[in-house]
Amino acid sequence: MQFNVAQLLKEPIGTTRTYQLDESLTELDPDIIPLSALIGTLHLLRTHSGVLATGNFDTTLQVDCGRCMEPVSAQIEVAFEENFRPLTEVTTGRFLLPDEFEGQAEELEDFALIIDDHHILDISEVLRQSIWLSVPMVPRCVFADPDHCPNFAERIAEMDEVHADLAGTEDEPAVDPRWAALLALQPNASEEK
Ligand SMILES: [Zn+2]
Repeated sequence: MQFNVAQLLKEPIGTTRTYQLDESLTELDPDIIPLSALIGTLHLLRTHSGVLATGNFDTTLQVDCGRCMEPVSAQIEVAFEENFRPLTEVTTGRFLLPDEFEGQAEELEDFALIIDDHHILDISEVLRQSIWLSVPMVPRCVFADPDHCPNFAERIAEMDEVHADLAGTEDEPAVDPRWAALLALQPNASEEK
């Protein structure tokens, strides 16, 4: 998701560009599973120190239900507003010095916000971080009531099974197999009864 902003950087402060995006997210992040394209608007605004990028998007991702762990789809709204700064001066190609940047220190240091020396503004990393911030903390499947969710019932049954197995082992004599051979050497082991 790269935009050549060479021309925009040559234009006066306040100049804008608007892009309607319809982008595939399949390559963005191995842990993000998109179920639809990313649809929305990106505004670029020429500022005195660079380009202010404002994005508003919708997409659908596959996430896991926080209760039954089954994959579910989540509709996500993604919004960001970030100041990108040029690495070089567009008219001369000269590298800009950090103290020529008129923005906040964290924007200066954030590699994701640099417009490279080919005047490419890349929103991928900003978008990736914004998507993670928009994913619901505890996604839920369609079953509002856990008693109605067959997958949740299955998870509970599995857990009961595990607990039953664990309880069963408690009755057996707990002898470390590495020490088992020593039991035979106990002097009164057989005579005591
Ligand atoms: Zn669920």
